[in-house]
This record gives sequence, structure tokens and C-alpha cells, in this order.
Amino acid sequence: MNHTPVQTAVFADGKKAAVCFTVDDVSPLKKTDPYEGGGDLLEGGLGKLKWLLDRHPQLKATLFTTANWREIEARPTRKLLAKIPWLRDRMYLAKRLKRDSMRLDKHPEFVQFLNETGCFEIGLHGLHHCHKGPVIPVEFQNETRAHFDAVLREMLAIFKEAGLRHVPGLCPPGWNAPEPLLEAAIDNNIEFVASARDVLTPISPEAQTNMSGIKGLPLIYPAFISDKKLIHFPTNFQATSRAERAFEIIKHGGLLCIKAHIVDCGMFDSVKDVYMNYLDLLFSQIEKTYGDQICWTTVGQMNARIRAQL
Ligand SMILES: [Zn+2]
Repeated sequence: MNHTPVQTAVFADGKKAAVCFTVDDVSPLKKTDPYEGGGDLLEGGLGKLKWLLDRHPQLKATLFTTANWREIEARPTRKLLAKIPWLRDRMYLAKRLKRDSMRLDKHPEFVQFLNETGCFEIGLHGLHHCHKGPVIPVEFQNETRAHFDAVLREMLAIFKEAGLRHVPGLCPPGWNAPEPLLEAAIDNNIEFVASARDVLTPISPEAQTNMSGIKGLPLIYPAFISDKKLIHFPTNFQATSRAERAFEIIKHGGLLCIKAHIVDCGMFDSVKDVYMNYLDLLFSQIEKTYGDQICWTTVGQMNARIRAQL
């Protein structure tokens, strides 16, 4: 994809490297639902995140939050239907949550907690986190710009109705960001996207994303895409990554962009004690090694800094 990389010094006040942390799949779901998505506040995944962030107050977590979550199963459970060509692409192949049960504006306590807990920044993670056909969590697939426009409008209207403060950035569920989605995002004043994860490609200043989501974008730098109308932030580190990968990114003056998922249902990078302890140790090592040479930041803050210098 055509792009222009943004060097770290542009958004990090001359520091050597930058670190940010984003968490996907945040919704008001509670333990009494099919899984916990943050709805149990300090008693659930958000409590585990807050423990980590309290220990490293220079860092905030960006919570990519879904406006009206409907997904229950990530894989088809209607097995027979899933075998019928044509029809299977036009039907939901697993049960979904009741319509509007997880609309953010129906969960004021959850919204208030996110708004008032100082260590969280909120980003956009789709309308329903659900799609017809075999690939359920990939919400944006082969639809038109007009369709995506309608979905994004509804998503943004729910955030507004709920009063949930957020940054103008979208992480599309399942990473997929087709060109018409990027166009619709621009139409809806979305300023940045986070839609490439690559935790395998070796680190170098020239390395490009080549795993989930958009390929061929800088792996350790943000980049302008879509005629400079959007900024892209890569994900380059997760629970399965070795600490050496983080230090290589920092050594090259890049952006270490760490991902977790709030939902604990078999995800290898779930917000569990073992991952939070690992990040606690990693952050402490980075602080000890680099002191104040690191810019601890968020995707929202970086977007604003980059745009302020245009
Ligand atoms: Zn997701």
C-alpha cells in the first residue's frame, strides 16, 4: 500500500523511541454473559489492566470498544448451513446476542467508568463485531463504501448517544480494512486506523507488515496512508513476543505498539495475570534501561501530535 512513514521524533518530542498499548474487544459484557468484555469493571479484565497501568502511570491503554457488540461465537456453530455454498455467505452461522443488549448507551455505569478512569483512552472497534458467513468476527469484508458509511455512522451515533469520549481512530475487528472502508472512515472524520498486526517479521527500520490486516506498511513506524488523509499505527508486539523484539524496536528508534484482548476465551494475548505480569516486567526493564528517553504515549496522542505538525 502507498504510504509515507512518520519518524518517531515527529510525534515523540525528540525522544529515542515510543511505546503504546492497545486492547481490543472491549464491551459491557459481564462474566454472567458468554464472556467478560470489561462490563465487570474492576472485578474483570479492566481491573487487571488498571493494576498494570497503576504500576506504570506514564502509560495509558487505548481500549478499542465496540458500539453494540453481538458476537457470541467466533466460529460457525450452524455446521450444516456452513456447508451450503451461496447460502452460508448470506446467513449468520452462529447465535448472536439479543439486538441492542450491549449498546453502549444502555450501560451508563460502564461508560462512566471508562470516562472517569484516567488511565484509559477509548478508540472505535466496530458496530457489532459480527458478520454473516464463515468469518464471523471480521465485521468489514466485501461491502461497498455506502454500506461501510452507514455502519460507521451508526457506530459513531451510539458512542455519541452514550456520551463515551473517544479518539477519532478505528481498529477494524479482525484487522480487515478494505479500501472502501478506509474511504468511508475518511468521510466520517476518522483520522487514524490500526489495522495491521505483525509479530513475526524481523525488526528493522525498513520492515513492513506482512501478517494480519493491511500488508506492506511500516512495521515499526506510523505512516500516512490514503493520500495522507489517514495515519496508520501498526501492532508489532503481543503476549507471545520475546522481550528482545521490544528492545530491537526501541534500538531502531521505532514505535513499540503492544496488543492485548480483553476477552479471555482462548486468545493467547488475553488480559490475564500472566500477560499483565510479563508486561509489568517488560515496562520495568525498558524504564531501567532507557529512563526518560522513551515517550510513553497512546495512538490518540500520537495522531494529534503528528497532525499538529503538518
Ligand atoms: Zn476484535
